Amino acid sequence: MARNTPHPATLAAQALGWIDQGTGAVVLPVHTATTFLRDPDNQYRRGRGYGRADNASFDQPEALITALEGGAASLVFASGMAAAMAVFHSLPAGAHVVMPLSMYHSLRRRIGAYAGDGHLAADFVDMTSLDALRAAVKPGQTKLVWAETPSNPLWSITDIAGAAEIAHQAGAVLAVDSTAASPVLTRPLVLGADIVMHSATKYLNGHSDVIAGSLTAARKDDFWQRIVATRSGDGAILGGFEAYLLLRGMRTLYPRVERACRSAQQIAERLATHPKVLEVLYPGLPGHPGHALAARQMQGGFGGMLSIRVKGGEGAAIAAAARVEIWKRATSLGGVESLIEHRASTEGAGSPVPPDLLRLSVGIEEPGDLIADLETALG
Ligand SMILES: *Cc1c(COP(=O)(O)O)cnc(C)c1O
Repeated sequence: MARNTPHPATLAAQALGWIDQGTGAVVLPVHTATTFLRDPDNQYRRGRGYGRADNASFDQPEALITALEGGAASLVFASGMAAAMAVFHSLPAGAHVVMPLSMYHSLRRRIGAYAGDGHLAADFVDMTSLDALRAAVKPGQTKLVWAETPSNPLWSITDIAGAAEIAHQAGAVLAVDSTAASPVLTRPLVLGADIVMHSATKYLNGHSDVIAGSLTAARKDDFWQRIVATRSGDGAILGGFEAYLLLRGMRTLYPRVERACRSAQQIAERLATHPKVLEVLYPGLPGHPGHALAARQMQGGFGGMLSIRVKGGEGAAIAAAARVEIWKRATSLGGVESLIEHRASTEGAGSPVPPDLLRLSVGIEEPGDLIADLETALG
């Protein structure tokens, strides 16, 4: 009898079930070689020549991310930023790109500077509105629409299927930074996107001990081949040990994300009625403007990330963050330990983030401990 295709959670737990052919080991060795033997007749029949383009330790994490995203191929990178920039470096010079106003701040800043230097033309729009996106794309000139959903750190929701249609009608590619959703909650390629990007530093690895990024393509088309050449040419590759750690982290992706989502939902509901909290930004709350869309587009939860706005302004927010004991005051997200951050301090001048906002990355601790710590800190 034919078995069902395994659920992605099964694929992740077993890292696709790859077995080392020589030894039968259920964990593959880390490949450290930077160079590979040529055949006597000068060919590279085994397919690898030099470690900047080819590292056998990338195969399994790339294959797993491809399977989880429902894509055709993936590449891992030295960081999420390296993965994202590989997309922009693969565009023709002077291309027009449309970006969200609410997005990961380092990339917003980098693309602003890159456009300012004349490498491309970038327009930033409110991507919760498909009308705003439709008005911003320039048929024939726009080569890329970049979306991020839920968007860091306001957790606004972009309609991926709607954005894909608008991008494609204009002749552009839709790339989605799906870091906050992870493949557990959203599969952008299945919804019509062309490329999905992750800061694998966050949920994919999940243990705050690897900086990594990934891109996954819906099709191995010409643009993807340019991205493959960009990774090798720009050289922002992951190390073999980091690839191994990333794969190890991905084996527990599903239980980590499922628990973080459940706890985040509880925390959001509890803080929504807290007297010291002005507003809770979390797509799992019915009052969130993107709630209905998120309920359609995300499955199994609304993510482990939320932000709160503290009554009393910036000083009150920073003071509350100073009083936590279980939560750790640190940037980053998607790890097993819960983190709290006064986001405007990190983003600096020009950030659209309100000064009273604290960003919460919910880990896998006991949710009662997390809630009690926050309630004490808020006073
Ligand atoms: C962290 C992050 C990035 C950048 O990834 P790095 O691995 O830190 O380079 C990009 N997008 C989002 C949404 C992130 O949270």
